[in-house]
Amino acid sequence: MRAICEICPHHCSIEEGHAGFCNARANSEGKIICSNYGKLTSMALDPIEKKPLARFMPGARILSVGSYGCNLRCPFCQNCSISMASEHSAKTVFVSPEGLVTKALELVPRGNIGIAYTYNEPLISYEYVMDCARLAHENHLKNVVVTNGYICEKPLSELLPFIDAMNIDLKGYTGSYYKKLHGDLETVKQTICRASKSCHVEVATLIVQGENDSPAEMEELSAWLSLIDEEIPLHITRFFPMYKYSGRSPTNVETVYSLARIAGKNLKYVYTGNC
Ligand code: SF4
Ligand code: SF4
Repeated sequence: MRAICEICPHHCSIEEGHAGFCNARANSEGKIICSNYGKLTSMALDPIEKKPLARFMPGARILSVGSYGCNLRCPFCQNCSISMASEHSAKTVFVSPEGLVTKALELVPRGNIGIAYTYNEPLISYEYVMDCARLAHENHLKNVVVTNGYICEKPLSELLPFIDAMNIDLKGYTGSYYKKLHGDLETVKQTICRASKSCHVEVATLIVQGENDSPAEMEELSAWLSLIDEEIPLHITRFFPMYKYSGRSPTNVETVYSLARIAGKNLKYVYTGNC
């Protein structure tokens, strides 16, 4: 029997025993399960600025974890070794929500404020993030999600009460660019709107030369963001050759600075950096 996953707008209709588009969710006996639940590929105590979050508890560190899989297909993915991996190819270690929260609490004396769900796309591990986030809050830890924002309204709304801060990618500002990445611009815009009403939100845009680097596009993107709140920080980051774009040139530093100047006319906080 096929089953439909309701987490993201792909709405995969998955055959029994198979995985969805993201490789992280599967049909087991007619039910959709989170097949990468607790299966971590990466864990590190990172500076909060690395998420990137510039205006949420600056100077803090956060226990950052990732699994495998992603519901988009960015040809420039900087984490393709895990985002494009599957159950069969990813090297994982199982860490239960209790185990993760215990680890996070042990790291508090080293400046840890909580847990960041990051590296691959965390929201496809929806049940794991929810279980960890609830438990983390019960233990007075913060929850941070670093996401592509490609999630349906219902699961997002149910998760938001447990989330303290998010960094959401706004990868470009055209429908055609998002189509290339197998996502859609409107869903991500809705995620940014909803999340910004519930928690601290910062937005990240990776600039790839010849793809999303036009001044007009940045003008539109930053003007739209300012309509939600001109105090939402925007991180404009530089592409380095990777994955399917490994033959391309890195983005010119001057392009990034000039786009930041444009965004700075609409927004109070614009940061530039390498991704
Ligand atoms: S979360 Fe994964 S399985 Fe679910 S609809 Fe999205 S891509 Fe498909
Ligand atoms: S959304 Fe992020 S993790 Fe997923 S493919 Fe794109 S860059 Fe990689």
